[in-house]
Amino acid sequence: MSEQRDIVMGIDLGTTNSLVAVCDEAGPRILRDARGEGRVPSFMTLGSDGRVTVGWKAKEHAVENPTSTVYSIKRLMGRGFDELAAGGELAQLPYKVVKRVAGEADRDIAGIEIDGQVLTPPELSAHILRELRERACRQLGCDVRRAVITVPAYFDDAQRQATRDAGRIAGLEVLRIINEPTAAALAYGLGVRGLFEHERPPAPKGGASVLPLAGACSSGDGQKPEQSGPTGAESIIAVYDLGGGTFDVSILRIVEDVFEVLSTHGDTRLGGDDMDREIITLVQREIREQFGLEIESPATRQALRTLAENIKIHLSTEAKASLEIDLGQGRLYRRTLTREEFEAMIEPWVERTLDSCRRALADAHLEPGSIDQVVLVGGSTRMPRVRQRVEELFGRKPYTALNPDEVVALGAAVQAGILGGVRRDALLLDVIPLSLGIETLGGAMGKLILRNSRIPCQATERFSTFVDGQTNVKINVLQGERELAKDCRSLGEFELRGIPPMPAGIPKLLVTFLIDENGILNVSAREERSGREASIQIVPTHGLTAEEVERMEREAYAHAREDMQAHRLIDLRNQVVFDTQKTEQMLERAGDGLNNEERATIEGSIRELRAMAETSQDADRLFEALQAFDRKTVRLAELAITRTLSQADDANTSSGHR
Ligand code: AMP
Repeated sequence: MSEQRDIVMGIDLGTTNSLVAVCDEAGPRILRDARGEGRVPSFMTLGSDGRVTVGWKAKEHAVENPTSTVYSIKRLMGRGFDELAAGGELAQLPYKVVKRVAGEADRDIAGIEIDGQVLTPPELSAHILRELRERACRQLGCDVRRAVITVPAYFDDAQRQATRDAGRIAGLEVLRIINEPTAAALAYGLGVRGLFEHERPPAPKGGASVLPLAGACSSGDGQKPEQSGPTGAESIIAVYDLGGGTFDVSILRIVEDVFEVLSTHGDTRLGGDDMDREIITLVQREIREQFGLEIESPATRQALRTLAENIKIHLSTEAKASLEIDLGQGRLYRRTLTREEFEAMIEPWVERTLDSCRRALADAHLEPGSIDQVVLVGGSTRMPRVRQRVEELFGRKPYTALNPDEVVALGAAVQAGILGGVRRDALLLDVIPLSLGIETLGGAMGKLILRNSRIPCQATERFSTFVDGQTNVKINVLQGERELAKDCRSLGEFELRGIPPMPAGIPKLLVTFLIDENGILNVSAREERSGREASIQIVPTHGLTAEEVERMEREAYAHAREDMQAHRLIDLRNQVVFDTQKTEQMLERAGDGLNNEERATIEGSIRELRAMAETSQDADRLFEALQAFDRKTVRLAELAITRTLSQADDANTSSGHR
C-alpha cells in the first residue's frame, strides 16, 4: 500500500462513538462505511482467543458478552483506580476494572481485566484508533499514519498523555492533540477565512470575519445556520458539548484566523449515559416495587442500558415512549414515559451543565449577552430540553446545522488539513485548562503556569539540594486549582539525576516546564554552575512510562502481524478445502483418462494437503504446498475441461439431430 505523506486524519476519539475525517481543498469530510455510517461505536469485545472486535459488532454483542465488552474507555484514560473507585464510577461498569500495580507503590493506573489479562485504557483505545486508521487506509487507498486527535478541553495532562500513548500504540504519529470545542468552531469554519472560499456563503454586509461553513460539510439536522456573523474583527463563541460521557463548554475568541480559548469548564463524568441511568434507575425501582425483583446480572443490566438509551432518543422527537419488559413467568413490566417526565428527571444534569457555562463565562469575564455564536456538539444536544435551556441562558439560538455527532471530527480534519498543508497560514491558539505547579515544602501547591495561559507556554523554576553531595532531586508536579498539594492531581514525579556533588544549597538547578502546542507537559533541567543537563526520569502517577508505551507499541505491531498471519492461514485453509473438493470432482469426471500411477499421486497429494492444512501454522509453507498441488493437478484439469467441452459438443450435436 502506498503512503501519501501529506494526508493527515482528523480523529474524534469519543466516549460513545469515534469518527475519522479528512480534509482537502473541497473541505472536510467524514469517512463512512458502506452503509453511509460515519460513527464507529467506541465498543470492543475481547474474545478468549485474543481477537478484538471493534465497533457495531462489539456494541451489538455487548448484551451477550457483558464482561468482555468494553465501552466508555475514555472515562478511564489517564486515571487511577483509587480515584475512580472513590468517585463511585466503577460500580456502573459491567466489565472488571482493577488496580494495575506496575511495581511502584505510588503509581495508580486503572486496568481492565478480561479473561485474566489486564489491559490499560490506552491499549484498549488503540484498538479503536486502529479501526479508524484501517477505514482511512481502505478508503483513501494509501497508508495513513499521521493524525490529529481531539480531547475534551477539560482533559488534564495525564489524560492527554494517555490519548497520545493510545495513538502511538496504534502505530500513529499524533501530530496534534486539540480540544474538542476548538475543533467544533473550526468545523463551522469560524475564523478560518479563505480555507474553503468557494464553498462559503457570501459575506454579510459589515465585513464579518466569522462565517459559518455549512456548505463545506454535510448538514445534519437540515437546518442552515443564519449567515449573520458578528461584525468587526473579533467574535466570541461558546461551544457547548454534551456527549455520552463528558461535558464541556468553552468560550473562544476568534480574531481573524487566531483561535484563543478564553476559558473552559466542564465535567469529564457527565453525559448522556447519566440520562440513560435515570431511566434505568426508574425501571429498576418500579420492577422492585411491583414484582420484588432485582435486576442484577450483567447481561440484564446491559440490555436495560440499551433500552433506556433507545427510550431517551425516542423522546427527543416524540412526546411519549412505551416500555415493555418481559420478566418471565408471565410477569410483564409496562409503562409509558412522557417527555415531560423525562425532562424533569434529567433537569439536575442539564442544570449542572448550565452552571459550568456560567462559570466559564465568569472566568472569561463575560456576560451571556456578549456571546456572538453558540455551537452545539455531541449527540446529547439533540434533546430538545437541552437546546431550549442553552438558548435561554445565552439568549440566542445555537448553531445546529451540522450533525452534532460529526462536528468534532470535521473540525479535527480541518486542523489536520492545516498541518498537512491544505492551508499553511492558519494559527490555532489554545489555553491550558488547569494550573500547573509543584509541591513545595509543607505540602502546598506552588503554581508555575496559571490556568487559561495560552499554549505553548513555559515557566522556569530554581531548585537546589538539601544535603551535601546530593546528586538527585525529586519534584512532585501537580495540576489543579486548590492550594494544597493533596487536593490537586499529581501528574507524576520528576527525578533530576546526575547533579554534580556539591555542598547543600550550592547547585543551581534550573527546571523548565514547557507546555507544548498539544497542551502536554515537557520538562527539562540544567545545573547552572556546571552547565550540565540533569537527566529526568518521569514516573507518571496515572499514566504509562515511555518504556511501557514502546513495549505496547511493539506488542501491538507483533499482534497485528500475528493477526494478519492468522487471517491468511484461515483463507488458505478454505482454499485447500475448495481445491481438494474440486480435484475429487474432476477425478470422478475425468480420472479414467489418467494412468494408475498418476491417479495415485493425485489422491496421495489430496490427503497430504488436507493433513497439512489441519495441522500447519505456517501460512507460507501452506501457500507453497497449495501451489505445488495446483501444478500436480494441471493434467487432470485439462482432461476435465476437454471432457466437459466434448460433452457439451455431444449435447449440441444430439439436439441438432432432433
Ligand atoms: P457522543 O458522545 O457525542 O457520540 O454522544 C453520544 C450520546 O448522545 C449518547 O448518550 C447518545 O445516547 C446520545 N444521543 C444520540 N442521539 C440522541 C438523540 N436523538 N436524543 C438524545 N440523545 C442522543
